[in-house]
Amino acid sequence: MKKSFLASLLASALILSACSTSTQSTEKISVVASFYPIEFLVDQIAKDQVTLATLVPGGAEPHDYELSPQDLGTIGSSQVFIVNGLVEPWFSDVEQNLENASVSILNLSKEMTLLESSDPEEPGKDPHVWLDPVLMSQMADIVRDALIAADPDHATLFEANTITLKQKLTQLDADYKMGLSQCEQKNFVTSHAAFAYLGSRYGITQVAISGLSPDAEPSAQKLKDLVDFARENKVTVIFFESLVSPALSETIAKEVGAETLVLNPLEGLTQEQMAAGEDYFSVMEENLQNLKTALVCE
Ligand SMILES: [Zn+2]
Repeated sequence: MKKSFLASLLASALILSACSTSTQSTEKISVVASFYPIEFLVDQIAKDQVTLATLVPGGAEPHDYELSPQDLGTIGSSQVFIVNGLVEPWFSDVEQNLENASVSILNLSKEMTLLESSDPEEPGKDPHVWLDPVLMSQMADIVRDALIAADPDHATLFEANTITLKQKLTQLDADYKMGLSQCEQKNFVTSHAAFAYLGSRYGITQVAISGLSPDAEPSAQKLKDLVDFARENKVTVIFFESLVSPALSETIAKEVGAETLVLNPLEGLTQEQMAAGEDYFSVMEENLQNLKTALVCE
């Protein structure tokens, strides 16, 4: 039932967009990003040279986001639609229904080498590639190419902006390598399992309270195992994240006498963070500082 509902909404959105594009001409291509990390890439690469919309709003979290009729209209009337492909639970339904639309879809997870989930109860590919600066840099190339394909007239601009972005990502990668090179601990306790790519890049290991998605809540046994693990490994920091409840992190922290700090999976920024000018780079640097505290790094 859900599928046919989406299909009919999308069909009407496409008809509306066909009517409006015939009377509109605009120099800027319209791009839709599903959530924040993709919005950030498009914004850095195209700046003001595209009209950019993001589906998951500030303060919301993509794993359980539900697509609205307005979102379908936005997608249907855009020229380029960029998704992670795995973090959006609605994407497979929408993708089938967009087959005959003129929007070109870039599914980033199809273009990259992905890690398998390490949790046997939650098999599948891990979507959280954006938390590794090196993979973020690979994504920048892929997004740049999609933008150039849609708007070849601005290829030079997109290429130049991508070079600047990739230089900053290279610096971020160097900061992480340096910052995490001399640490007493290797394991960090996170809220949901978003940090496998980051961990694998820098030789550290996440121990997650929830699963690949924040709503995959742990069993009582898993919570007990986490408490035992934290005690045995003298864990002094339990991480929580800003877009989901810190309750489980606080419970474990209290139980083992640890403090709580934020480790932000960058699945969205809050309105306050956006107003304060926070972005991918500033949050990644904050994450690094908090990881250094948790892992007792020099
Ligand atoms: Zn996630």
